[in-house]
Amino acid sequence: MPLFVKPVFHEKIWGGNRLKDFGYDLPSDTIGEVWGISAHPNGRCEILNEPFQGQTLDQVWNNHRELFGDFPSQEFPLMTKIVDAKSSLSVHVHPDDAYAYENEDGQYGKSECWYIIDAEEDAEIIYGLNTDSKEVALDKINTQDYDALFNKVKVKPGEFYFIPAGTIHSIGAGVLVYETMQSSDVTYRLFDYDRVHASGEKRELSQSKAKEVIEIANENINIPTDTEIIENHKRTQLVSNDFFTIVKWDISGTLNYMKPREFVLVSVLKGEGQVIIDGAVFDLKQGQNFILTSDDLDTIFEGDYELIVSYL
Ligand code: ZN
Repeated sequence: MPLFVKPVFHEKIWGGNRLKDFGYDLPSDTIGEVWGISAHPNGRCEILNEPFQGQTLDQVWNNHRELFGDFPSQEFPLMTKIVDAKSSLSVHVHPDDAYAYENEDGQYGKSECWYIIDAEEDAEIIYGLNTDSKEVALDKINTQDYDALFNKVKVKPGEFYFIPAGTIHSIGAGVLVYETMQSSDVTYRLFDYDRVHASGEKRELSQSKAKEVIEIANENINIPTDTEIIENHKRTQLVSNDFFTIVKWDISGTLNYMKPREFVLVSVLKGEGQVIIDGAVFDLKQGQNFILTSDDLDTIFEGDYELIVSYL
């Protein structure tokens, strides 16, 4: 049986209410993130269907590792989110695995990737720095010369960005993003636009750790994607690296799906239809998230919808 999971909502100072467009019943008008698939202690998703209904994903991971190909990791390794940036997120950076293990109680580091679902005209992200010298970067941070330092990129729906650990980044106002990432919640804020909580306190920065983990990337940020048409369906491979592979499917009609790994994470971004798994029929609609496990041998997608599939 697949594992359909219940999303977890997170209030954020910069969040909005656009996630209700995905069919979610939002608890407030400042929801910045919905964690679609997560076993992280800061937001554990509950299983919605039998036989594990009511258990959390981390419980199933711990007690039924055979459903995940006996994958040898203590923690469930991935997480998916949708982020609604009504205003800009803090400018921040995540550590890599080695730094996080050492300094953050054995947590994973975080590399993440973004699929831009929607963006207002002229909306921007911050992606990396306008220098290839760490010395220059640290100097500009120390003098708070951020405008010259941050590399701003205008984004459009359908684009894709990979953010390796160590890359300074931020999602700008008016951008709606689907994210797949390593299962980690370690964020070092560098700059937060001097925003204050309702209590009047500024949000905490972690500048010294941020400065330690910054990597100066010279890579081209335009990630080439690889699109092929399989029968009537468009399959776009967004990224494949040491951390994850992300594939977007535009499905129209019937797709006999070959699961590429023992377990894969699936999110419905748009549209509706059904998925038939070993003969059992499940209705699918926008905003749903599920995991196909080792048990699920024969999967048929039917309908008109867009999926993102993530796996190790
Ligand atoms: Zn981030």
